[in-house]
Amino acid sequence: MKLCRYGEPGAERPAVLDGDQRFDVSAWGHDYDERFFGSAGIDGLREWFRANRESCPRVPADVRHAPAVCRPSKLICIGFNYLKHAEETGAELPSEPIVFFKATSAICGAYDDLVLPRGSRKSDWEVELAVVIGARASYVDEADALNHVAGYLVHNDYSEREFQLERGGQYVKGKSADTFAPLGPVLVTRDEIPDAGRLDLWLKVNGETVQEANTSDMVFGVAKLVSYLSQFMTLLPGDVISTGTPNGVGSGFDPPRFLKPGDVVECGIAGLGISKQRVVAWERRNG
Ligand code: ZN
Repeated sequence: MKLCRYGEPGAERPAVLDGDQRFDVSAWGHDYDERFFGSAGIDGLREWFRANRESCPRVPADVRHAPAVCRPSKLICIGFNYLKHAEETGAELPSEPIVFFKATSAICGAYDDLVLPRGSRKSDWEVELAVVIGARASYVDEADALNHVAGYLVHNDYSEREFQLERGGQYVKGKSADTFAPLGPVLVTRDEIPDAGRLDLWLKVNGETVQEANTSDMVFGVAKLVSYLSQFMTLLPGDVISTGTPNGVGSGFDPPRFLKPGDVVECGIAGLGISKQRVVAWERRNG
């Protein structure tokens, strides 16, 4: 099943993508939040949708794609999880997963504009496979970890490299601007993705392919990451884990390439759909 949400910020509603058509499922009574994922909501919705599909309102194609899930308790990111990305940044391959957070207020819809933060000179892209937690996870074994996963979605982990690396302290400053975390367009449930460790992913800037890899290149796979993180914190239903980006980010080019107003970024993962953002200046958006 493919879950998505639609509508303007603050008035977003749950939907199911079936074929090319989005169906409003708000009559079912639950949005895609912690309670939904924590109460076997996916199975319940699947049955409800089968019985009620014809009475669900069809969402017109031009209505905004909202983030595919409600704002989670945590948006956790993994750094340097692809060998060639570690090489292009000059970093050593980690012996344990590198973990950092991204503010959940950065989350936006898959086709929303990317708003460059005020004063940004080094905003960069990162296509990533993101995992949505389905069942509370605390000290779970790697063998059991995938049972705690609800599904997968596309995340573009936008990063302001100057804020991230040259302003002191943690990555979070460069990762958390509004619109820096488009999630979606859809959450594809785990039953439809038999092996998340074998998915092609790519990213284009203005039509030129700059990232192209397969999740089989990840240093730490999904099961390992869920298990690992659960040793340090409780993962709640609906939490999102972004599993790191392959090589081909702008800061890895010589000379580096960063985003400017008017650029168009498009990225996708096999089976999970495509997301696309137009880049705009903060000043333009906020006067
Ligand atoms: Zn990242």
